[in-house]
Amino acid sequence: SPPLLQVNDLKKHFPVKSGLFGRKSEFVYAVDGVSFEIARGETLSLVGESGCGKSTVGRAILRLFDITAGQVILDGQRIDDAHPGTMRQMRRRVQVVFQDPFSSLNPRMRVRDILAEPIRNFGLAKSAEDLEVRVTSLMDTVRLPREALNRRPHEFSGGQRQRIGIARALAAEPELIVCDEAVSALDVSVKAQIVNLLQDLQSEFGLALLFISHDLAIVEHMTHRVAVMYLGKIVEIAPRREIFAAPRHPYTRALLSAVPLPEPGAQRNPIILKGDVPSPINPPKGCRFHTRCPLVFDRCRVEEPVLRATGTEQWVACHLEDGAVATSG
Ligand code: SF4
Ligand code: MG
Repeated sequence: SPPLLQVNDLKKHFPVKSGLFGRKSEFVYAVDGVSFEIARGETLSLVGESGCGKSTVGRAILRLFDITAGQVILDGQRIDDAHPGTMRQMRRRVQVVFQDPFSSLNPRMRVRDILAEPIRNFGLAKSAEDLEVRVTSLMDTVRLPREALNRRPHEFSGGQRQRIGIARALAAEPELIVCDEAVSALDVSVKAQIVNLLQDLQSEFGLALLFISHDLAIVEHMTHRVAVMYLGKIVEIAPRREIFAAPRHPYTRALLSAVPLPEPGAQRNPIILKGDVPSPINPPKGCRFHTRCPLVFDRCRVEEPVLRATGTEQWVACHLEDGAVATSG
């Protein structure tokens, strides 16, 4: 059977006006040729600095806008150009948990109605009793007291609100949840609780997660694989073990060097990158990372590296991996 999700050469270019009096029309190359798969029950983390395009990938999968090019395929069916009837079911199967549950939960609605809404929208309840059973069991699932069903979002802490956000996502009985910086705004201890909850739910329901995060320390605890993005492209994709123990792309190494080691007092050698991330309106020619790469050489400035397999499951886009086998992408 096909993988749960396939993303093929996805591109999203946003038009912008720039120049004197905004007379120049240009494009932000937010996502510029991204391919990956997610298996059923798998967590793939999409990491990188803000502006690298990781949220745009998540939004493209959620069909929050039309994509510029490429394909998004859920369970063998294209969802980037699906007709409305198919789209409805596709929308049910892919849900989202955003960073800020406060802004994504309607403050005037009681938790009961917040959870009932997707159940009704997707026609999942067979009766009023069934709806009530579903809503109360969702509270149990995310470890919130049932009496909280009658309260409104502002009466909860940040962590509790995120549990409501997760319950709302689960209400649709999804197979994939896009978590866009879902724990980034929470305190460290609350973060760990929500991550543990997501992991429990994953094994309970066989959920796949696309975990979008800039926080590699959190990712290390919960992911199966990691895709590292830089300026709209994936530069490395590999299982967790390889990414954290043997990162190969110079950008992955720099990102990881800033992640604290678990042993107290232990420290990685920090790799400080020079300069800022260049504008995605005019990304550098050749390797997009060449303006900041500590290992840059002539070829990097003219030729774009493609993702190559360096191990069975590790793929790296860097000319230093030239001996490896290139893909068509
Ligand atoms: Fe650095 Fe060149 Fe590799 Fe790009 S291709 S990451 S510039 S060594
Ligand atoms: Mg973002």
